[in-house]
Amino acid sequence: MKRDTLLHLAKKHGSPLYVYDTDKIASQYKRLTDAFSAVDSLKINYAVKALSNINILKFIKNLGAGLDTVSFQEVQLGLAAGYSPESIFFTPNGVSLEEIEEVAKLGVQINIDNLSILELFGQKHPETPVCIRINPHVMGGGNHKISVGHIDSKFGISIYQTPHILRVVENTGMRISGIHMHTGSDILDIDTFLRASEILLDTAKQFDNLDFIDFGSGFKVPYKEGDIETNVEEFGKKLSKRFNDFSKEYGKKLTLLFEPGKFLVSESGSFLAKVNVIKQTTSTVFAGVDSGFNHLGRPMMYNSYHHIENISNPKGRERFYTVVGYICETDTFGANRRINEITEGDILCFKNAGAYCFTMASNYNSRYKPAEVMLINGKDYLITKRENFDDIIKNQIMIKELS
Ligand SMILES: *Cc1c(COP(=O)(O)O)cnc(C)c1O
Repeated sequence: MKRDTLLHLAKKHGSPLYVYDTDKIASQYKRLTDAFSAVDSLKINYAVKALSNINILKFIKNLGAGLDTVSFQEVQLGLAAGYSPESIFFTPNGVSLEEIEEVAKLGVQINIDNLSILELFGQKHPETPVCIRINPHVMGGGNHKISVGHIDSKFGISIYQTPHILRVVENTGMRISGIHMHTGSDILDIDTFLRASEILLDTAKQFDNLDFIDFGSGFKVPYKEGDIETNVEEFGKKLSKRFNDFSKEYGKKLTLLFEPGKFLVSESGSFLAKVNVIKQTTSTVFAGVDSGFNHLGRPMMYNSYHHIENISNPKGRERFYTVVGYICETDTFGANRRINEITEGDILCFKNAGAYCFTMASNYNSRYKPAEVMLINGKDYLITKRENFDDIIKNQIMIKELS
């Protein structure tokens, strides 16, 4: 996104502000579908939790995608955005049987990730086709919190329990329509991905009436210039061939599914915050902005890197800053960053702010959440207005006796 556009939007809508460029979402979608163009039947389900504004969901629907959801409310959002129930997958973890039944009743494809629920659901609803999430026990990613396929992970049913899955299927007479894995975010190389894929296909072979195989997500996107990213094109070439061969062996045309969140929206987002104060201490120059981990939590939660630019002074000489928020505990966005000279009042731009940023925002410190703007063909639309005090207090109930 152009610096001038962003500056203009910060002025028009105020700060802090999230801005999403839909051109980037569309080009990432095209990149992924192009990489797998050799596969007859490909379906991309966008992972709603990455960025869940209804306008974003509508935009992605128009690209041709389905949805991957993890809660009943995300399913409701998808339906409200105009997705058909059949184009929505429900891939939760640790939710109740009741919630799964509720979603299945709507006609959404459910995905079950533990044996106990599988057995209960299969006995009650043998006619409902179910997808199974397996855990291939492949370690992906550099951060334990986002790597969900390893041996200690709470996600999926262990591949070592496949005999037990088969027994449940046989006992209940339920139909398994798909096999799924999601090994976690930030897989650093495609060999890891392909290794996990082989395990998934090996499991799939043991079920004889599948419609699809869901390879999950975990595509790594670049966070700074020269950063490594998943080589989607090479991965597509290799996996497409493998998948087509498998489909032939299997004797049925299967659909290949992915459910990316970050890959589609991460780079589309910019987060804009205004510098409140420059503070020089004995060791550091701090730039304190009008935001904090209540708005952009990934640096504090995952130690994630978000590139920071001073869009108010792009030609200024570079100096070193530690960019911090206004939350009353350690709240660092980036330590010791080389940034064009910052003056109080400047607007800083945080990159890769599309995925898991606004959706994780909270009202901690009783602050309002940021507003959100979407750019479509260069035109800006406000898609979430800034909160006001009523939003902070609306669910609080006054106890009369405390007057
Ligand atoms: C979160 C999630 C995704 C999306 O992961 P990204 O790293 O954002 O692509 C996909 N599938 C499931 C089941 C998820 O929980």
